[in-house]
Amino acid sequence: MLSVARQGARMPDEARIEVVEDRCQGHSRCVAIAPDLFDCDELGNVVLLGDGRVSPEALERARLAVLNCPERALVLREGGGA
Ligand code: SF4
Repeated sequence: MLSVARQGARMPDEARIEVVEDRCQGHSRCVAIAPDLFDCDELGNVVLLGDGRVSPEALERARLAVLNCPERALVLREGGGA
């Protein structure tokens, strides 16, 4: 599979991931996809690692985690100008 970067897509200046905590049901799919961005608490619910900023290197994993969250509990805000 080609990465987004290899396809030549423009990378945003800054991306941030947010958790809608009351939606998380603890499936841990996000942790399996991006263990550098997410962890689980003692109940299995997602915990953000860091302050939510997503590095360009982690952006593709963050996008996959959002797409694979069955509860739509993850929101990725991709910054950047026009
Ligand atoms: S995949 Fe979604 S519902 Fe499951 S732990 Fe991660 S944020 Fe929560």
